[in-house]
Amino acid sequence: MATLEREIRFESDRDPEFAAQIRRMPGCENLNRCIQCATCSGICPLSTYMDMTPRRVIQLARDGFKADVLNCNTIWLCASCYQCQVECPKEIGITDVMYALKCKAIEAGIKPKQAAPQTLYREFYNLGTKNGRISEGALMVNTVIKTQPARFWSLKMLGLRLLRTGRFGWKIERMPQQSVLKAAIQATPPINGKESS
Ligand code: SF4
Ligand code: SF4
Repeated sequence: MATLEREIRFESDRDPEFAAQIRRMPGCENLNRCIQCATCSGICPLSTYMDMTPRRVIQLARDGFKADVLNCNTIWLCASCYQCQVECPKEIGITDVMYALKCKAIEAGIKPKQAAPQTLYREFYNLGTKNGRISEGALMVNTVIKTQPARFWSLKMLGLRLLRTGRFGWKIERMPQQSVLKAAIQATPPINGKESS
């Protein structure tokens, strides 16, 4: 696991109002109940790749260390699998906190440091707004071609294995009522007053 350079935190680094803002966001109301048991970090399938474990993100968000949590890669790597949220003994909406922090990072103009998460989110958004459904095959192929074209053929074998075991769908799916999709998109306010790009 990568570690962030800055290990010592000072009281002056805290932004208590930021912590209060996060607690007011949907699903984040129980943030202060965390007992730091680390169940979330132990169960997270992606914590090996994160520069901060989910437990630490929760701790720093709760204490208002805004710069740390908005600049870590954890919030972008979180795959929204909800395993941590289901297992948390204090019923903290950990996945929702990750979403809330992503929203705050976007509002602050902070992007993920690696190209792959940015491209993955963009492709996810493009497919979602175009079809109303996410097609895993198209999502992964588009992301790999744009971020790691040299690895496309080696990853193809992994994709085929996932297809064979039913863990990966190839079909392009579309929402039947496209007019409803367009109306929902038009009614969604853009983040920070800007259109997503
Ligand atoms: S599982 Fe819940 S209580 Fe335990 S560290 Fe994670 S957020 Fe905190
Ligand atoms: S929801 Fe995110 S943080 Fe929680 S276990 Fe899944 S990938 Fe990890």
